[in-house]
Amino acid sequence: MARFFKRAPSKDGADERASDESPAKPREPEWAADKRDALKPDPDRIGISGAVPFVRLPQPDSLFAERAARFRALAPGHPLAGYLDFLGRIAEAQAAVQALYADGTLPAPEPEGDLAMRAEHGMPALSRALLGDGRPFLACLDALLARLDLTGAPEAARDALGRLSAAPPEDRLDLATQVFEGAFPVERMAECVFVSAALQVLVAGQAARLDAKVLKPVADGVCPACGSAPTASLIVAWTPADKARYLSCSLCGTLWNHVRIRCTACGSGEDVTYYGLDEVSKDVQVEACGTCHSYLKHLHQHRDPALDPVADDVASYGLDLKIAEDGFRKAGLNLLFVS
Ligand SMILES: [Zn+2]
Ligand SMILES: [Zn+2]
Repeated sequence: MARFFKRAPSKDGADERASDESPAKPREPEWAADKRDALKPDPDRIGISGAVPFVRLPQPDSLFAERAARFRALAPGHPLAGYLDFLGRIAEAQAAVQALYADGTLPAPEPEGDLAMRAEHGMPALSRALLGDGRPFLACLDALLARLDLTGAPEAARDALGRLSAAPPEDRLDLATQVFEGAFPVERMAECVFVSAALQVLVAGQAARLDAKVLKPVADGVCPACGSAPTASLIVAWTPADKARYLSCSLCGTLWNHVRIRCTACGSGEDVTYYGLDEVSKDVQVEACGTCHSYLKHLHQHRDPALDPVADDVASYGLDLKIAEDGFRKAGLNLLFVS
Protein backbone atom coordinates (compact mmCIF):
# COMPACT_ATOMS: atom_id res chain seq x y z
CA MET A 1 0.00 0.00 0.00
CA ALA A 2 1.52 3.26 -1.06
CA ARG A 3 1.84 5.93 1.56
CA PHE A 4 1.19 9.44 0.39
CA PHE A 5 3.16 12.04 2.29
CA LYS A 6 2.01 15.55 2.73
CA ARG A 7 4.58 18.27 3.00
CA ALA A 8 3.62 21.83 3.78
CA PRO A 9 5.79 24.70 2.67
CA SER A 10 8.08 25.86 5.46
CA LYS A 11 9.06 29.38 6.30
CA ASP A 12 12.33 29.43 4.42
CA GLY A 13 10.82 27.93 1.32
CA ALA A 14 12.03 24.40 2.00
CA ASP A 15 9.35 21.75 1.73
CA GLU A 16 9.16 19.95 5.02
CA ARG A 17 7.36 16.73 5.71
CA ALA A 18 4.36 17.78 7.73
CA SER A 19 2.69 14.43 8.24
CA ASP A 20 2.49 11.01 6.69
CA GLU A 21 -1.17 10.23 6.96
CA SER A 22 -2.78 8.72 3.91
CA PRO A 23 -5.12 11.35 2.46
CA ALA A 24 -8.23 9.39 1.63
CA LYS A 25 -10.16 12.59 0.89
CA PRO A 26 -7.58 15.29 0.39
CA ARG A 27 -9.84 17.81 -1.25
CA GLU A 28 -10.63 19.93 1.72
CA PRO A 29 -12.19 19.00 5.03
CA GLU A 30 -9.73 17.16 7.20
CA TRP A 31 -6.76 19.15 5.93
CA ALA A 32 -8.34 22.56 5.99
CA ALA A 33 -7.23 23.35 9.53
CA ASP A 34 -3.77 22.15 8.71
CA LYS A 35 -3.60 24.49 5.77
CA ARG A 36 -4.78 27.46 7.79
CA ASP A 37 -2.01 26.80 10.26
CA ALA A 38 0.60 26.38 7.56
CA LEU A 39 2.97 29.23 6.99
CA LYS A 40 2.00 31.29 4.02
CA PRO A 41 4.47 31.96 1.26
CA ASP A 42 6.16 35.29 1.52
CA PRO A 43 7.05 36.55 -1.96
CA ASP A 44 9.57 38.99 -0.55
CA ARG A 45 11.52 36.19 1.01
CA ILE A 46 11.04 33.43 -1.53
CA GLY A 47 10.23 35.32 -4.71
CA ILE A 48 13.90 36.02 -5.37
CA SER A 49 12.88 38.12 -8.34
CA GLY A 50 15.85 40.11 -9.50
CA ALA A 51 18.29 38.12 -7.40
CA VAL A 52 18.65 35.36 -10.00
CA PRO A 53 18.64 35.24 -13.78
CA PHE A 54 15.12 35.16 -15.22
CA VAL A 55 15.99 32.48 -17.74
CA ARG A 56 18.63 29.90 -18.42
CA LEU A 57 18.66 28.99 -22.09
CA PRO A 58 18.92 25.31 -23.00
CA GLN A 59 22.28 23.67 -23.70
CA PRO A 60 21.40 21.10 -26.34
CA ASP A 61 24.88 19.59 -26.43
CA SER A 62 24.37 18.21 -22.93
CA LEU A 63 20.57 18.32 -22.48
CA PHE A 64 19.68 15.20 -24.46
CA ALA A 65 22.78 13.16 -23.62
CA GLU A 66 22.23 13.71 -19.89
CA ARG A 67 18.56 12.86 -20.29
CA ALA A 68 19.45 9.61 -22.04
CA ALA A 69 21.82 8.75 -19.19
CA ARG A 70 19.11 9.49 -16.65
CA PHE A 71 16.62 7.21 -18.43
CA ARG A 72 19.26 4.46 -18.45
CA ALA A 73 19.89 4.93 -14.72
CA LEU A 74 16.19 4.86 -13.84
CA ALA A 75 15.11 1.87 -15.93
CA PRO A 76 16.61 -1.20 -14.19
CA GLY A 77 14.11 -2.76 -11.81
CA HIS A 78 11.51 -0.03 -12.39
CA PRO A 79 7.87 -1.08 -13.03
CA LEU A 80 8.03 1.03 -16.23
CA ALA A 81 11.48 -0.29 -17.20
CA GLY A 82 10.48 -1.10 -20.79
CA TYR A 83 9.07 2.34 -21.43
CA LEU A 84 11.95 4.12 -19.70
CA ASP A 85 14.35 2.16 -21.88
CA PHE A 86 12.36 3.11 -25.00
CA LEU A 87 12.41 6.81 -24.08
CA GLY A 88 16.11 6.53 -23.27
CA ARG A 89 16.70 5.40 -26.84
CA ILE A 90 14.75 8.37 -28.12
CA ALA A 91 16.86 10.71 -25.99
CA GLU A 92 20.02 9.05 -27.35
CA ALA A 93 18.79 9.65 -30.89
CA GLN A 94 18.00 13.27 -29.98
CA ALA A 95 21.56 13.69 -28.69
CA ALA A 96 22.94 12.29 -31.95
CA VAL A 97 20.74 14.54 -34.09
CA GLN A 98 21.45 17.72 -32.15
CA ALA A 99 25.15 17.06 -32.73
CA LEU A 100 24.44 17.48 -36.45
CA TYR A 101 23.44 21.06 -35.70
CA ALA A 102 26.31 21.84 -33.35
CA ASP A 103 28.21 23.58 -36.12
CA GLY A 104 25.52 26.23 -36.45
CA THR A 105 23.86 24.85 -39.56
CA LEU A 106 20.43 25.24 -37.99
CA PRO A 107 18.57 28.02 -39.81
CA ALA A 108 17.88 31.16 -37.78
CA PRO A 109 14.32 30.99 -36.47
CA GLU A 110 13.23 34.51 -37.25
CA PRO A 111 14.86 37.91 -37.80
CA GLU A 112 16.39 39.28 -34.58
CA GLY A 113 14.13 42.34 -34.70
CA ASP A 114 11.00 40.17 -34.79
CA LEU A 115 12.16 38.18 -31.76
CA ALA A 116 12.83 41.31 -29.72
CA MET A 117 9.54 42.88 -30.77
CA ARG A 118 7.55 39.79 -29.79
CA ALA A 119 9.26 39.65 -26.39
CA GLU A 120 8.67 43.37 -25.88
CA HIS A 121 4.95 42.85 -26.48
CA GLY A 122 4.68 40.07 -23.90
CA MET A 123 4.77 37.23 -26.43
CA PRO A 124 7.12 34.25 -26.48
CA ALA A 125 10.13 34.98 -28.67
CA LEU A 126 9.73 31.87 -30.84
CA SER A 127 6.55 31.06 -32.73
CA ARG A 128 5.50 28.26 -35.01
CA ALA A 129 6.86 30.41 -37.80
CA LEU A 130 10.15 28.69 -36.99
CA LEU A 131 8.78 25.66 -38.80
CA GLY A 132 8.89 27.78 -41.94
CA ASP A 133 8.49 25.70 -45.06
CA GLY A 134 9.03 22.60 -42.96
CA ARG A 135 12.34 21.52 -44.42
CA PRO A 136 14.46 21.88 -41.25
CA PHE A 137 11.89 19.99 -39.20
CA LEU A 138 11.45 17.21 -41.75
CA ALA A 139 15.23 16.80 -42.00
CA CYS A 140 15.43 16.64 -38.22
CA LEU A 141 12.66 14.04 -38.04
CA ASP A 142 14.25 11.90 -40.76
CA ALA A 143 17.61 12.04 -38.97
CA LEU A 144 15.98 11.07 -35.69
CA LEU A 145 14.02 8.16 -37.14
CA ALA A 146 17.15 6.90 -38.91
CA ARG A 147 19.07 6.80 -35.63
CA LEU A 148 16.41 5.14 -33.53
CA ASP A 149 17.05 1.60 -32.42
CA LEU A 150 13.69 0.20 -31.37
CA THR A 151 14.83 -3.35 -30.75
CA GLY A 152 12.77 -4.60 -27.83
CA ALA A 153 10.59 -1.49 -27.80
CA PRO A 154 6.82 -1.82 -27.28
CA GLU A 155 5.07 -3.09 -30.42
CA ALA A 156 2.81 -0.04 -30.44
CA ALA A 157 5.88 2.19 -30.67
CA ARG A 158 7.31 0.20 -33.60
CA ASP A 159 3.95 0.33 -35.39
CA ALA A 160 3.74 4.08 -34.85
CA LEU A 161 7.24 4.51 -36.23
CA GLY A 162 6.20 2.56 -39.33
CA ARG A 163 3.11 4.72 -39.87
CA LEU A 164 5.05 7.95 -39.41
CA SER A 165 7.82 6.82 -41.75
CA ALA A 166 5.21 6.17 -44.43
CA ALA A 167 3.33 9.44 -43.88
CA PRO A 168 3.71 12.19 -46.50
CA PRO A 169 5.78 15.26 -45.56
CA GLU A 170 2.77 17.58 -45.30
CA ASP A 171 1.14 15.20 -42.85
CA ARG A 172 4.28 15.06 -40.66
CA LEU A 173 4.52 18.83 -40.73
CA ASP A 174 0.87 19.14 -39.77
CA LEU A 175 1.55 16.93 -36.75
CA ALA A 176 4.52 19.09 -35.80
CA THR A 177 2.36 22.22 -35.95
CA GLN A 178 -0.23 20.59 -33.71
CA VAL A 179 2.44 19.54 -31.20
CA PHE A 180 3.91 23.05 -31.22
CA GLU A 181 0.47 24.41 -30.36
CA GLY A 182 -0.10 21.83 -27.65
CA ALA A 183 -2.96 20.15 -29.49
CA PHE A 184 -2.41 16.42 -29.76
CA PRO A 185 -4.61 14.32 -32.02
CA VAL A 186 -5.71 11.57 -29.64
CA GLU A 187 -5.67 8.87 -32.31
CA ARG A 188 -2.04 9.62 -33.20
CA MET A 189 -0.47 10.01 -29.77
CA ALA A 190 2.13 7.30 -30.39
CA GLU A 191 3.35 9.00 -33.56
CA CYS A 192 3.42 12.33 -31.72
CA VAL A 193 6.17 11.00 -29.42
CA PHE A 194 8.59 10.86 -32.37
CA VAL A 195 7.37 14.15 -33.81
CA SER A 196 7.76 15.80 -30.39
CA ALA A 197 11.27 14.40 -30.00
CA ALA A 198 12.35 15.89 -33.34
CA LEU A 199 10.65 19.18 -32.54
CA GLN A 200 12.41 19.34 -29.16
CA VAL A 201 15.79 19.10 -30.90
CA LEU A 202 14.87 21.78 -33.43
CA VAL A 203 13.33 24.25 -30.96
CA ALA A 204 15.98 23.71 -28.26
CA GLY A 205 18.63 24.47 -30.89
CA GLN A 206 16.88 27.70 -31.78
CA ALA A 207 16.10 28.71 -28.19
CA ALA A 208 19.78 28.21 -27.36
CA ARG A 209 20.61 30.95 -29.85
CA LEU A 210 18.28 33.53 -28.35
CA ASP A 211 19.56 36.48 -26.37
CA ALA A 212 18.44 35.70 -22.82
CA LYS A 213 18.29 39.40 -22.03
CA VAL A 214 15.40 40.05 -24.42
CA LEU A 215 13.14 37.40 -22.89
CA LYS A 216 10.38 38.70 -20.64
CA PRO A 217 7.72 36.95 -18.53
CA VAL A 218 4.71 36.01 -20.67
CA ALA A 219 2.22 34.46 -18.25
CA ASP A 220 2.11 31.93 -15.44
CA GLY A 221 3.16 28.55 -16.76
CA VAL A 222 4.15 29.80 -20.22
CA CYS A 223 7.71 29.50 -21.53
CA PRO A 224 9.05 32.95 -22.41
CA ALA A 225 11.13 31.46 -25.23
CA CYS A 226 8.61 29.29 -27.09
CA GLY A 227 5.25 29.59 -25.32
CA SER A 228 4.97 25.96 -24.24
CA ALA A 229 3.93 24.57 -20.86
CA PRO A 230 6.47 23.43 -18.28
CA THR A 231 7.17 19.76 -17.65
CA ALA A 232 8.25 20.25 -14.06
CA SER A 233 9.51 22.67 -11.50
CA LEU A 234 13.15 22.46 -10.39
CA ILE A 235 14.73 23.74 -7.21
CA VAL A 236 18.28 24.51 -8.30
CA ALA A 237 21.55 25.24 -6.57
CA TRP A 238 23.38 27.09 -9.33
CA THR A 239 22.06 30.62 -8.75
CA PRO A 240 23.53 33.29 -6.43
CA ALA A 241 20.35 33.02 -4.34
CA ASP A 242 19.90 29.74 -2.51
CA LYS A 243 17.33 27.24 -3.79
CA ALA A 244 15.76 29.24 -6.58
CA ARG A 245 12.85 27.65 -8.44
CA TYR A 246 12.76 27.33 -12.22
CA LEU A 247 10.16 25.87 -14.55
CA SER A 248 11.50 23.60 -17.27
CA CYS A 249 9.98 24.04 -20.74
CA SER A 250 8.46 20.89 -22.22
CA LEU A 251 9.45 21.85 -25.76
CA CYS A 252 12.62 23.94 -25.86
CA GLY A 253 14.17 23.09 -22.48
CA THR A 254 14.53 26.72 -21.40
CA LEU A 255 14.38 27.24 -17.63
CA TRP A 256 12.58 30.29 -16.31
CA ASN A 257 12.32 31.60 -12.79
CA HIS A 258 9.01 31.29 -10.93
CA VAL A 259 8.28 32.35 -7.37
CA ARG A 260 8.35 29.40 -4.97
CA ILE A 261 5.23 28.08 -3.32
CA ARG A 262 2.97 29.71 -5.87
CA CYS A 263 0.82 27.76 -8.30
CA THR A 264 2.23 27.78 -11.81
CA ALA A 265 -1.24 27.45 -13.35
CA CYS A 266 -3.37 30.06 -11.53
CA GLY A 267 -0.72 32.10 -9.72
CA SER A 268 -2.26 31.63 -6.28
CA GLY A 269 -0.05 30.93 -3.27
CA GLU A 270 -2.93 30.50 -0.84
CA ASP A 271 -3.33 26.75 -0.81
CA VAL A 272 -0.17 25.07 -2.05
CA THR A 273 0.83 21.68 -0.65
CA TYR A 274 3.58 19.19 -1.48
CA TYR A 275 3.14 15.43 -1.66
CA GLY A 276 5.51 12.53 -2.05
CA LEU A 277 5.31 8.75 -2.19
CA ASP A 278 7.34 6.11 -0.41
CA GLU A 279 8.33 4.35 -3.61
CA VAL A 280 9.38 7.58 -5.33
CA SER A 281 12.58 9.44 -4.49
CA LYS A 282 12.05 11.94 -1.67
CA ASP A 283 13.56 14.51 -4.01
CA VAL A 284 10.59 14.18 -6.39
CA GLN A 285 7.26 15.56 -5.20
CA VAL A 286 4.13 17.15 -6.58
CA GLU A 287 3.20 20.74 -5.86
CA ALA A 288 -0.60 20.77 -5.64
CA CYS A 289 -2.78 23.86 -5.68
CA GLY A 290 -6.03 23.68 -3.72
CA THR A 291 -7.29 26.83 -5.45
CA CYS A 292 -7.42 25.52 -9.02
CA HIS A 293 -6.81 21.81 -8.29
CA SER A 294 -3.84 21.49 -10.57
CA TYR A 295 -0.40 20.08 -9.80
CA LEU A 296 3.12 20.03 -11.17
CA LYS A 297 6.08 17.77 -10.47
CA HIS A 298 8.55 19.42 -8.15
CA LEU A 299 12.16 18.20 -8.32
CA HIS A 300 14.79 19.00 -5.71
CA GLN A 301 17.67 19.14 -8.13
CA HIS A 302 19.75 21.02 -5.57
CA ARG A 303 19.84 17.77 -3.58
CA ASP A 304 20.20 15.44 -6.56
CA PRO A 305 21.71 17.14 -9.63
CA ALA A 306 21.00 14.05 -11.78
CA LEU A 307 17.23 14.65 -11.64
CA ASP A 308 15.84 15.35 -15.09
CA PRO A 309 12.41 16.95 -15.59
CA VAL A 310 11.41 14.62 -18.43
CA ALA A 311 12.89 11.31 -17.26
CA ASP A 312 12.01 11.72 -13.60
CA ASP A 313 8.50 12.81 -14.46
CA VAL A 314 7.95 9.47 -16.20
CA ALA A 315 9.68 7.48 -13.46
CA SER A 316 7.46 9.07 -10.79
CA TYR A 317 4.22 8.22 -12.59
CA GLY A 318 2.91 6.70 -9.36
CA LEU A 319 2.62 10.23 -8.01
CA ASP A 320 0.44 11.24 -10.96
CA LEU A 321 -1.87 8.30 -10.42
CA LYS A 322 -2.20 9.05 -6.73
CA ILE A 323 -2.80 12.77 -7.01
CA ALA A 324 -5.26 12.25 -9.88
CA GLU A 325 -7.31 9.98 -7.59
CA ASP A 326 -7.62 13.00 -5.36
CA GLY A 327 -9.11 15.12 -8.10
CA PHE A 328 -6.08 17.12 -9.22
CA ARG A 329 -5.19 17.57 -12.90
CA LYS A 330 -1.71 17.93 -14.27
CA ALA A 331 -0.65 21.48 -15.10
CA GLY A 332 2.57 20.29 -16.73
CA LEU A 333 3.21 18.60 -20.04
CA ASN A 334 5.68 15.87 -20.89
CA LEU A 335 5.87 15.58 -24.68
CA LEU A 336 7.37 12.08 -24.49
CA PHE A 337 4.73 10.88 -22.05
CA VAL A 338 1.41 12.60 -22.67
CA SER A 339 -1.04 11.03 -20.25
ZN1 LIG B 1 10.15 26.77 -24.40
ZN1 LIG C 1 -3.62 26.97 -8.91
